[in-house]
Amino acid sequence: MVSRVPSSDDLRIRFWGTRGSTCASGPQFVEFGGHTACVEIRCGERLFIVDAGTGIAALGAELGPSAPETIDILLSHLHLDHIGGLPFFKPALLSKTRVIRTYCGNLDGDSAMAPLERLFSPPLFPVRLGQLPARFEHTGFRAGETLTFDDGSVVQTHSLSHPGGATGYRFSHGGRSVCYISDLEHSEPWPDPDLTAFVRNADLMIYDGMFSEAEYPNCRGWGHSTWHKGVELAQAAGVKALAIFHLYPGHDDASIKAAEAEMQILMPTAFVARERQSVSLAPVLGGAIAERPKAAKVPAV
Ligand SMILES: [Zn+2]
Ligand SMILES: [Zn+2]
Repeated sequence: MVSRVPSSDDLRIRFWGTRGSTCASGPQFVEFGGHTACVEIRCGERLFIVDAGTGIAALGAELGPSAPETIDILLSHLHLDHIGGLPFFKPALLSKTRVIRTYCGNLDGDSAMAPLERLFSPPLFPVRLGQLPARFEHTGFRAGETLTFDDGSVVQTHSLSHPGGATGYRFSHGGRSVCYISDLEHSEPWPDPDLTAFVRNADLMIYDGMFSEAEYPNCRGWGHSTWHKGVELAQAAGVKALAIFHLYPGHDDASIKAAEAEMQILMPTAFVARERQSVSLAPVLGGAIAERPKAAKVPAV
């Protein structure tokens, strides 16, 4: 049970798509959901969207006409499970004055403009980006640089090991922080010291736990990790809670719940991210924690 009502000044996280590679569908995939990667991050009222997998369509429907006039979408990289929902993001259709800004850090400083224009073009999709009512702006950077936005918001970034590269993000607000670490393949030895420093003392780390340790040897080099490696990184870095993410579409609810029970023996605050689940982190007041994070216990709202 939640003992406090989430406040508008919290650092809030909501999962709109938790799958990796492709969607899952069917009665055995209800609890953890079927959409691919998309996470809503709210620093107070300030919205960031991380990745534009199919979950972004549901987020867009929820935002509806109340969507901000400027929307920032931070992309980990451009594999289809991270951009495939963008053509169905309704806020792009609802306002001629809206600006949607994308950020991409794994293309040697190039933006996502050219690849997204390929996605938004016949015969792949009938409508071009430039034909949409909203205006798109694309920013390229190099993973590792710190992003500073025109409202003063700052987001830290980190390069991740993945085919073609990927970008991890760290959001901070009210003395709290959340890291998004997907897609990546763990290194040998592990944990990687630079990544450990990047996520150190985060209140929540969202981590690519696509494969089990038993599956991983057959999937080496595919650019993904395991929940075991997520727990090792979290514990080495003093991360307070861990959300396993980028779920393998072949893993059904029963197998994921079994894995979750195993990981909670090693790290009680670890959990597997459920589609539409929210986590709300109260600001740290006067150096004291206003409330301990209850990530594993917070139900979807
Ligand atoms: Zn992916
Ligand atoms: Zn990928």
